[in-house]
Amino acid sequence: MIIEIDKGSGFCFGVTTAIEKAEETLRSGRQLSCLGDIVHNGMECARLNSMGLVTIEHEEFSRLHDATVLLRAHGEPPSTYATAQSNNITLIDATCPVVLALQKRIKKMYESTRGTDSDGRLSDIVIFGKNGHAEVLGLVGQTEGNAIVIEHLEDVRKLDFSHNIYLYSQTTKSLSEFHQIIEYCREHMEKGATFESFDTICRSVANRMPSICEFARKHELVLFVCGRKSSNGKVLYNACREHNPNTHLIEGPDEIDVAWLQGIDSIGICGATSTPKWLMEQCREKVEGMKDEGRRMKEEGMKDEGLYGNSPKRPNTQTPKRPNTQTTKRPND
Ligand code: SF4
Repeated sequence: MIIEIDKGSGFCFGVTTAIEKAEETLRSGRQLSCLGDIVHNGMECARLNSMGLVTIEHEEFSRLHDATVLLRAHGEPPSTYATAQSNNITLIDATCPVVLALQKRIKKMYESTRGTDSDGRLSDIVIFGKNGHAEVLGLVGQTEGNAIVIEHLEDVRKLDFSHNIYLYSQTTKSLSEFHQIIEYCREHMEKGATFESFDTICRSVANRMPSICEFARKHELVLFVCGRKSSNGKVLYNACREHNPNTHLIEGPDEIDVAWLQGIDSIGICGATSTPKWLMEQCREKVEGMKDEGRRMKEEGMKDEGLYGNSPKRPNTQTPKRPNTQTTKRPND
């Protein structure tokens, strides 16, 4: 049986930097809190918590004084910095540079179009992202809470196309859905109103798409390892499933079902930008341990599906689709 870990999966540089900053501070003996989960992966959070990192939420942060707090890669709205200043909180700011640059762009656009634009029309800053996601809260904060968030293509209908519209994206959203939204807006803008879109999707996620799809097609079974709260995890997992229906999302090795291995000769293990390599290695070890059991089951000809649970998953027997070899251009770069 072949078991392969996708080389392109694992922490992006933004998450790696945040974790390194946390580890460095904890090793120096300082007490450190992190505002929100440092990464959308429960097992990595637990590892850092065991080193002394304390995870706090915003409510607790607002009551905190004279402490050191790490801001994770997702970034924060201006109100967080204001609270830190008034409560004498030392910030270790691990906001990813890509997110920081996006915050600045949105702030600049908001300040230049606030109220009515130079043409006298009302203007809207629109963010394609997940409502309530930490990064999106940080982006909306740059507009004094006035930006409109759209989560899906269907939500785009609620926009007022007589206004000027400036469209941005959360860094981890799907590039193809973003392009569909752009197209819809272009078709529906009222004559004379301005529409500008800015492709602000992080290439740490978008560039993984073609290779992870190819990886998924290559294997009979795919184990996609990631926290269920991970935004980029959802995007990458859905892409894997599209290319290999025999893909399972797991948070860790304990969720691997031995029945999935029945008749399988090739397993791919991959994950999100928030998935630690060590966790994918643990999944590989778990599968290694299970494969002897799987082989025994195969040899004994235990083909009665009832023996493997109520709803056994069948291996992917579809003819692999051709990889997407299109190059995606970034509009308005
Ligand atoms: S996905 Fe991109 S923007 Fe988000 S933390 Fe990672 S590198 Fe930064």
